[in-house]
Amino acid sequence: MSRLSHAFVRYPLQWLLFGLSSLLLVLSLQHAFRHITDLNKRDTIAMAGELRSQFQEMEAFLESMRGQAEERLRSNPESILSRHLYQALRVDRSNLITLDRVPADLPPALIGNLTGLGPLPAPVSEREETIHLALSLSPLLSTASKLLDEDVAWIYFTGSDNFIYLYPWVPSSQFHFDPAIYTKSYWQDMLAQQPPARRASLSRPYQDFAGRGQMITLSQPITKAQKVVGLLSIDILLANLERALQQPAPQVGTLFLINQHRQVLARSQPGTAPPLRHDREQDRYRWQQGAFQLVHAIPDTPLTLIHRIPLIALLEALFWQSVTALVTLLCLVVATLSSLRSRRLNQRLNYLSRHDALTGAFNRHHFVAFEQKQAQGGAHTTGAIMFDCDHFKRVNDTFGHGVGDEVLIQLVRLCQPLLTRGNLLIRWGGEEFLLLVVDEAASLAELAEQLRRAIADHPWEEIATGLGVTVSLGHHRQSADISLHETIRRADVALYRAKANGRNRSEAWQDDGEVQPE
Ligand code: GH3
Ligand code: MG
Ligand code: MG
Repeated sequence: MSRLSHAFVRYPLQWLLFGLSSLLLVLSLQHAFRHITDLNKRDTIAMAGELRSQFQEMEAFLESMRGQAEERLRSNPESILSRHLYQALRVDRSNLITLDRVPADLPPALIGNLTGLGPLPAPVSEREETIHLALSLSPLLSTASKLLDEDVAWIYFTGSDNFIYLYPWVPSSQFHFDPAIYTKSYWQDMLAQQPPARRASLSRPYQDFAGRGQMITLSQPITKAQKVVGLLSIDILLANLERALQQPAPQVGTLFLINQHRQVLARSQPGTAPPLRHDREQDRYRWQQGAFQLVHAIPDTPLTLIHRIPLIALLEALFWQSVTALVTLLCLVVATLSSLRSRRLNQRLNYLSRHDALTGAFNRHHFVAFEQKQAQGGAHTTGAIMFDCDHFKRVNDTFGHGVGDEVLIQLVRLCQPLLTRGNLLIRWGGEEFLLLVVDEAASLAELAEQLRRAIADHPWEEIATGLGVTVSLGHHRQSADISLHETIRRADVALYRAKANGRNRSEAWQDDGEVQPE
């Protein structure tokens, strides 16, 4: 038998308890894991919904402006407002067109910053028409700029002929047109599309020309006869996206916003290592690159939201989530273990109180309990055999007490074959034993002789050289008219007769010196 199965046989209840608590622990952790991931999935999808509606709001602005701009291009983009603003345009010393001086009769919030390469275009030229178009969009651009205020950095129209009209207004000393804008990938990507795209597209992250930090641009081309005349754009600072991911930040782990090129745009926890790669959208948390990861493509946008929970953070969350269950389980285990322990202790005490510590035979205490039980009719006996070791003092004197003890232990072992059908062996005192016979069919004389021979024939030399052990036995069959007490007394009298008659023999109790028939 292996050590484990041996231990199981010995302490089955503890093992069952261990198995049960392990099962409960696993179930409680599994439940906590499901709770955490469900909660975080719900939060991630809610965050994706927020980002989606912001993105769609910007797209809607761009789309409505594109509609109006293209409509005007088909007729005449000039308006009273655009003419008014056009007159306020100046060309400065470095040949830059500026709109630094806002006409006093117009609300300042309506005006953006027009900056481009000078000189001002010739009247009735295509460039003049595009500038009028840009200026005529002022109310729309201004409204969008105010409404999107918190979310975006800039909203502007970039003409394909070297000018830009930008909101909110800043003086040309702070920001002025730079033709390098046409080398930016989003402009190039836009021009490369033939026919020009109808939908807004999102740029890769780049450094803001006005120095406000890393940003991305959502752009919508404005076309006239399949030709791009300019781009309507909204610049979004990555810092703003980062702030959005932190309101509220996930309870555990980090959110990453990823663009269509799999670049990280923002994360809810600055400095957190980004996912190296991610699979396509998945509807549940999966183990990827040392963390549990949920990948959610934000519908109708080129954006993806990834929520990553590193193992350590997950274990910590699991711990706090299931701490009550764990403490309860622990208390339960401790309480059950201590109750099992005290039960075992009680069993042990009960055993010790009824057994002789040296030989394992029953003691007088057990006999008293048995006698009481019999008096109440709960047990019965058919007879008693009393036996005593012959010249045991000599054994002790010759071979020592240790050998004497060994002999007593062996005597009890030799009695084992007789202890069937409820027969009891009691250490009556010192080297004297009482065998209470319960078996109706047994012959006491035969039992006594069987035991005597077994003891006399035992190879005692194995314990000590020169050692030999015999016993003398007396027995008496119990009848209805005499008590157990009297039966034992008579067996004891018979034992002394056996001693007197030369030892190593068995005798039945005799009345008037006659041997009683069995
Ligand atoms: P008899 O044949 O007449 O019974 O002679 P005996 O020597 O056996 O009788 P006696 O009553 O003189 O001696 C019994 C001895 O048993 C004395 C005692 O020291 C010894 N004895 C009693 N209990 C134990 C025990 O637990 N261990 C050992 N080693 N000896 C014991
Ligand atoms: Mg003796
Ligand atoms: Mg004795």
